[in-house]
Amino acid sequence: MEERSICAERFSGQLTVFAVATIVRRSVLRGENSMKVLVIGGGGREHALVWKLKESASVETICCAPGNGGIAADAQCVAADAGDVAGLVALAETLGPDLTVVGPELPLVNGLVDAFEHRKWAIVGPTKEAAQLEGSKVFTKEFLERHKIPTAAMYGTYDSPGGAYGALCEVDWPVVIKADGLCAGKGVFVAPNPDAATEFIERVMEKNELGEGGKRVMLEEALEGDELSFILLTDGERYAPLVPTRDHKRVFDNNEGPNTGGMGAYSSDELLPEELRRVITATIVEPTMKGLAADGIRYQGFLYVGLMLTKNGPKVLEFNCRLGDPETQAIAARMDFDLGAVLSEVSTGKLRAEKLKWKRGASACVVLASGGYPGKFESGKEIQGLDDVAKIPDVKVLHAGTKRDGRKIVTSGGRVLGVTATGNSLDEALQKAYQATGKIHFDGMHYRRDIGRHGRQSTAAGD
Ligand code: AMP
Repeated sequence: MEERSICAERFSGQLTVFAVATIVRRSVLRGENSMKVLVIGGGGREHALVWKLKESASVETICCAPGNGGIAADAQCVAADAGDVAGLVALAETLGPDLTVVGPELPLVNGLVDAFEHRKWAIVGPTKEAAQLEGSKVFTKEFLERHKIPTAAMYGTYDSPGGAYGALCEVDWPVVIKADGLCAGKGVFVAPNPDAATEFIERVMEKNELGEGGKRVMLEEALEGDELSFILLTDGERYAPLVPTRDHKRVFDNNEGPNTGGMGAYSSDELLPEELRRVITATIVEPTMKGLAADGIRYQGFLYVGLMLTKNGPKVLEFNCRLGDPETQAIAARMDFDLGAVLSEVSTGKLRAEKLKWKRGASACVVLASGGYPGKFESGKEIQGLDDVAKIPDVKVLHAGTKRDGRKIVTSGGRVLGVTATGNSLDEALQKAYQATGKIHFDGMHYRRDIGRHGRQSTAAGD
């Protein structure tokens, strides 16, 4: 029997008994668990997933579509366009994975999970309907308001530039302008004054610089406070929180310069004192899960809750329908469980939250970026020092934008590597990550020297 049909039958209600017998027989024959897992995506987040899946006793083979130069050392990389649902379905037809794990938002918002579930193929990620929590800022704001979940107050939504310009007379400053659709992290602007707001609206709504995603904008109140990423894994009914993380969006030290996809992240339990965890669970997580159920939306997969810790309590800034990047690198470094087994349970609606065990202490990820990033950047630069760093204990270099060029690894993206380390304390994790960073070089490489600094201060201050 082919692997594809085993996989299909395993999730077909009518054929469950036969399928279970088949799976058991395969396991017995091999004397081990033997899942074939397909990971969709090709950045640092996907390399982190592949890293932990490779360590999973339940996983035998990993394919990654499209992967990158570093992932190629840990998985079989196959060419793919992550936004092309039909192409990914055809790929899965050929590869026959037992489980597919989706990294980026685009295939989710485009309906990849719906296409897989229709064929009864196991996949981790929300359906197109549920992925609107990331795909539409207006959908999310209405969801939050409907279920009385704390968030920034909305001034209004506007389908025309004229409407948006007009609304600027009525707002307090600064004001936050959000393009409604997916904009690759460029759709949110905290405008300090009317001139800056007008310029952003013009770029988004009149010059269409963000494409379809900018056809409608929303204006909302600007919140103040520290940000916190709180990510859940849910099977549609039960959920388990992952360890808390904080990322660093601005390109330069001291949070200066333009926003990026993320220049680093760290995780430590001190980020989330018990009382704050209790408040976030009671006022945000539980109402979100109940709200989804009340609206008839089954959400399965990772749910990223971006929070602002304001003086009036935590408020939701955004939802993402997938793991964050580079937060995933810091989270993966602290995983102490079989990721393949847990994700397989999520795909069949049988998550056991107690299985998610975490290493104590802390982790940190320092992103090494190409010269010019986040603007126009150079690529094709040879990366040196990777072999030396591979020998440092508790350090893992995760590749984000690299490719192989013969025996060399060269840069191929804005964010190139995520140097990730664990330690008994945040200081120790950071010290190891920076020590390893010092051994890596490529032309134009730049990185932030203050990842986790805020975390050290806030831990010391006891907040
Ligand atoms: P979002 O994609 O909605 O998370 O926005 C990206 C970033 O914009 C967030 O991580 C915040 O730094 C900032 N941001 C979004 N909404 C607000 C808000 N209402 N007040 C202040 N900053 C915000």
